[in-house]
Amino acid sequence: MRKPFVAGNWKMHGSKAFILNLVTGLNAKSSELKGVDVAICPPSLYIDFTKRSLSTEVIAIGAQNMAEEPHQGAFTGEGSASMLKDLGCRYVILGHSERRAIYGETNSEVANKVQVALDAGITPILCVGETLEERESGIMESIISEQLDAVLGLVGIAAFKGVVIAYEPVWAIGTGVTASPEQAQEVHAFIRAKLSGLDENIAAGVVIQYGGSVKPNNAKELFGQPDIDGGLIGGASLDADDFIAICKAAEI
Ligand code: PEP
Repeated sequence: MRKPFVAGNWKMHGSKAFILNLVTGLNAKSSELKGVDVAICPPSLYIDFTKRSLSTEVIAIGAQNMAEEPHQGAFTGEGSASMLKDLGCRYVILGHSERRAIYGETNSEVANKVQVALDAGITPILCVGETLEERESGIMESIISEQLDAVLGLVGIAAFKGVVIAYEPVWAIGTGVTASPEQAQEVHAFIRAKLSGLDENIAAGVVIQYGGSVKPNNAKELFGQPDIDGGLIGGASLDADDFIAICKAAEI
């Protein structure tokens, strides 16, 4: 039985005052969280501040990105996996579509980062997903396969015991347009079947989150699908009440 997992991606939002207010709200409601793993992923500059503001062990901390280089060194502006570990990060979001689209991250860079995160003892949240054009031109499955194959080819299927996958259709991120539960389930089932072709047991245990305009009013139906194991939440994770409501919708 997979335990659902909900993670909040704060993206480049916040200030110390904003985060203190948000985390105070999360602290107050954290005792309501049962049967779901929960993480929040602040901007890296605020990871330490956020961690110190949390008064609960129930909510873990993750990062939104990290350097591809496995070791510290002369990489101005970058932050390493070991630094994230040192700050107490349990997770790191890798290959988010904004990183792929805005910063040109390739499948092979994402794969390298997954390897580096695993080596550092951090669980990658590997984001995959298609654009609207790719969906409409019928190449959705091959795009998602390529994104997964790059990682599988480097780290191998056995390593997916320690990988979370987030299926995020690009057209649903931050747009207010959600994939229907059936559309999302179809892709989640495709991803699990693909992994199952390599190792049935690992495929059955991999947590696959859905991300893309998840809100308190649509979370339950999405998370109720057989292959959807929680969500990666952007906008709604910036509101404590909404985020907790979404986490509770994933509870088993
Ligand atoms: C995301 O950024 O991963 C995301 C899913 O954003 P939103 O929930 O705002 O669509």
